[in-house]
Amino acid sequence: MAPPTLSIVVPMFNEEDVLPILFTRLGKFFDQVGETFEIICINDGSTDRTAKLLVEAHNKDDRIKVINFSRNFGKEVALTAGLDASSGDAVIPFDADLQDPPELIITFLEKWREGYDVVCGVRRQRGTDTAIKRWSATNFYRVINRLSGVRIPTNAGDFRLMDRRVVRETCRLREKNRFMKGLFAWVGFRQTSVPYDRPERAAGQTKFSYWRLWNFALDGITGFSSVPLHIAGYIGMLTAVIAVIYGSLLFIRTLAYGVDVPGYASIMVAVLLIGGLQLIVLGVIGEYLGRLYEESRKRPLYIVESTLGLPHPEDTYR
Ligand code: UDP
Ligand code: MG
Repeated sequence: MAPPTLSIVVPMFNEEDVLPILFTRLGKFFDQVGETFEIICINDGSTDRTAKLLVEAHNKDDRIKVINFSRNFGKEVALTAGLDASSGDAVIPFDADLQDPPELIITFLEKWREGYDVVCGVRRQRGTDTAIKRWSATNFYRVINRLSGVRIPTNAGDFRLMDRRVVRETCRLREKNRFMKGLFAWVGFRQTSVPYDRPERAAGQTKFSYWRLWNFALDGITGFSSVPLHIAGYIGMLTAVIAVIYGSLLFIRTLAYGVDVPGYASIMVAVLLIGGLQLIVLGVIGEYLGRLYEESRKRPLYIVESTLGLPHPEDTYR
């Protein structure tokens, strides 16, 4: 069978509430557009009825293909598995909760046919987000684009169209620390973006707590920049210089005026300050070291329990 024009890759973790709406909406959309397509659903270790609903969906329409993970591996890895399995001329990662409006795909296709390899959906405003999330997102993009060499478009999600050759190159990046937006940007090619308004989740709950988002941000920064390590080094150097100057002053003062006993406060301040700095710097090093350790173990990125409509991806364990 000839590969379809479009592969829609949908990672899913406990999405039973939204699946019926998702398939109806996508089905209707593709009837109108008239492109050949496949929908690759990655069941990322769901514990609800997601797996069962996916079997039913596949039996009704075999353009819906399924990868079941053996446990939850996280959205970034699920997306990777979907890219590995996709065969379309263009691939579109898509959230199960319909926060990515399918109608935008028409614009994506137009831009793609104009010759762009990557067409990013960029959120116009973050009206549906909380104030904290808006604030942290803005600052995250500011920091990461300052610190890293690759340009990650501000407020671009994973929702985008990628030409086959971009997908092929992205699939060669097998690092464990998978900050997909960063990897997509790193690969390069001709990119453009299309603004859109992101609606609320169609049903169900978000799977990303603030703690998870914070760790995700750390993954992004450590994966694409070693500037924090340099900063740690500079903090150390600066502290050392201050210590030498202050030490010389003390030495001279002692020579000139003799020994005076009081000085508890200044000693405590110095000990606490330098102790704190050391711990911070060690923590920064630890963030990198931990990730280095993870990379060095050479485990596969994910374990597939079963598939529907796709071969078992033994060959993709590179
Ligand atoms: N997701 C996943 N594995 C996870 C967490 C999330 O596959 O461990 C999927 C989820 O089912 C959804 C997409 O990633 O299709 C985006 O998640 P969510 O909507 O919860 O994130 P938000 O939009 O709130 O950032
Ligand atoms: Mg969502």
